[in-house]
Amino acid sequence: MQFANVIGNSELKQQLAQMVRGGRLSHAILLCEDGQWGAMAVAVALAQLLNCTGPHEDDSCGKCDSCHKYGKLIHPDLHFVFPTASAKGLSESEKKAPVSDYFMNQWRELLLANPFFSEQELYDALGIENKSAGISVHESKRIFEKLSLRAFEGEYKTLIIYLPEKMNAEAANKLLKLLEEPPVGTIFILVSHAPENLLSTIRSRCQRINLHPLSREQEAQAGIARTIDPEYHELTTTLLKACLAKDLLATFPVWEAVAEMGREKQREWVSYTEDFLRKMMLTADGMEQIACPLPEERAVIEDLCGKVKPTFYEKGFKALESALTGIAANVNPKLLYCNLCNTLLLAM
Ligand SMILES: [Zn+2]
Repeated sequence: MQFANVIGNSELKQQLAQMVRGGRLSHAILLCEDGQWGAMAVAVALAQLLNCTGPHEDDSCGKCDSCHKYGKLIHPDLHFVFPTASAKGLSESEKKAPVSDYFMNQWRELLLANPFFSEQELYDALGIENKSAGISVHESKRIFEKLSLRAFEGEYKTLIIYLPEKMNAEAANKLLKLLEEPPVGTIFILVSHAPENLLSTIRSRCQRINLHPLSREQEAQAGIARTIDPEYHELTTTLLKACLAKDLLATFPVWEAVAEMGREKQREWVSYTEDFLRKMMLTADGMEQIACPLPEERAVIEDLCGKVKPTFYEKGFKALESALTGIAANVNPKLLYCNLCNTLLLAM
């Protein structure tokens, strides 16, 4: 994978390429994203650039022998670690200590088909349950073994760790040791969705790089489908109806339910609600064809959009955007959504 084929985050890709060119890349990079923003794609493209034998100014060549192997994710100096758990296809002994290597075929297939996969899509591809997934100390032992060998073909060995925050304490401490005394010629790329859950000592050893969310067009390009989640739909319509009725009490179950969700789901719900408002606004302006509400949304949208003030939309979008900022900044979710519901209610 070349940077040129990674959708979004153009400036960041350029900066990374400049760091490689100038020899200023740290031996440990922490790529942070808060959703499907393409950090895995950036990680692989960076690893490919590091060992490319004929790099361009801002990218790998995509043509050399090394690039071909990275393109298929089979370069012997490219290593992956990701959360796993016991799964059906494993042998009895493998089930006791599952590690990434046992799932490498499924991993490659998923990553090659869609580097913008979600965490859930990974677990589905591996055939494991989301709740039990983690990175254990068995994995750390294998990491030690792999990294103690010299780079096979390229100048660098790269270890890409997807969701290092899923490491248990023992595994995290082993990783810390490696980061403190990195084997020669090894680059660690950590792709995190919750960097605040990493050991602070690991964070401080890494050069942190924050990715930016994709635009709607880029999401579509990356094949990130927006389907309607019945739970989000239910919460959003209950909330909007309660706000319209000026019934603050009826908004409580909604904000309580959202506050209980994980951060990625919270973000998804807020984005869904933004999308819903956009559809209402377009429908109110007689542009239902552009709004394209899904069948289950149509009736509610038509009903609500005739009843809210025209000024509601601007205030609503602003409140939802500030909720997204709040999620990213780790603001107390109950406060965040209580505030959001209040603002929406007053704006209607
Ligand atoms: Zn190349």
